[in-house]
Amino acid sequence: MFKLKNRSDKDFSLGWTHEEIITPLVKEFINSYKNLPFYAYQIQDKFRDELRAKSGLLRGVEFLMKDLYSFHADEKDLDSYYEKMKKAYFNIFDKCGLSTKTFLTLAAGGTFSKYSHEFQTLTTSGEDEIYLCKKCKLAVNKEIIKQEKNKCPKCGNKSLSVEKAIEIGNIFQLKDKFSKVFNLNFVGKDKKEKLVFMGCYGIGLSRLMGAIVEINHDDKGIIWPKEVAPFLVHLIQVENNQKINKAAFGLYEDFQKQGIEVLYDDRQDKSAGEKFVDADLIGLPLRIVVSERT
Ligand SMILES: [Zn+2]
Repeated sequence: MFKLKNRSDKDFSLGWTHEEIITPLVKEFINSYKNLPFYAYQIQDKFRDELRAKSGLLRGVEFLMKDLYSFHADEKDLDSYYEKMKKAYFNIFDKCGLSTKTFLTLAAGGTFSKYSHEFQTLTTSGEDEIYLCKKCKLAVNKEIIKQEKNKCPKCGNKSLSVEKAIEIGNIFQLKDKFSKVFNLNFVGKDKKEKLVFMGCYGIGLSRLMGAIVEINHDDKGIIWPKEVAPFLVHLIQVENNQKINKAAFGLYEDFQKQGIEVLYDDRQDKSAGEKFVDADLIGLPLRIVVSERT
């Protein structure tokens, strides 16, 4: 954890996860079973006091995270939501162009769950090592591979392949760990007071962006998947004369009107070649060139 002192020597810390903040906050909104299930998420900066911040977005001291917390009346409801989230996360990673390289990975569950689950994307620049069963498409992380006796917990396969990977998301059944500490209770249908069951679900957005680029690129630059590209269209104007200016700017305005995100390269001091090299580097899904010939 990132710890620091203020001018009067008081201790502070910058959070890398927010269960301790969200649980007491949510207490204000949950009294009865009628308030459940309840979900809260944020997209916000987190901090880790990394000894070695490196690999650009893959390992930073400050990073952007999407964290969702879910609150349930019982374990069954938590379980079913947890399974839905697994699927939702794979849908997200599919849209990011990572689905064929991303594997559900069993990780330590703490004292209260058997496992937590990581979403690990295979890449040689990854810092994590996972043990992948290619039959089940299920992996086990380094932390618990001994506990699993070096075999696939699903099919018993002993020839697991060791792969380098980046963790882009993780989900965790917190159950009543934080509800106990913060007295997060609710009154059930039977009028009895019970502890709320919690789950948490994180995607490291900065790191995800790094992973997207690690997986989707060639030797000329990035190849952005359509769903997460910063712009859909790269509009390149090659020559500069009144006719071309008018045609290119007209297209630019049409895209804007239709709500299509467009990056318009009308630089006058760059050659066509330079513009194409930059376009390859940026790697937007669609390229439109306006010149005398096109
Ligand atoms: Zn297996």
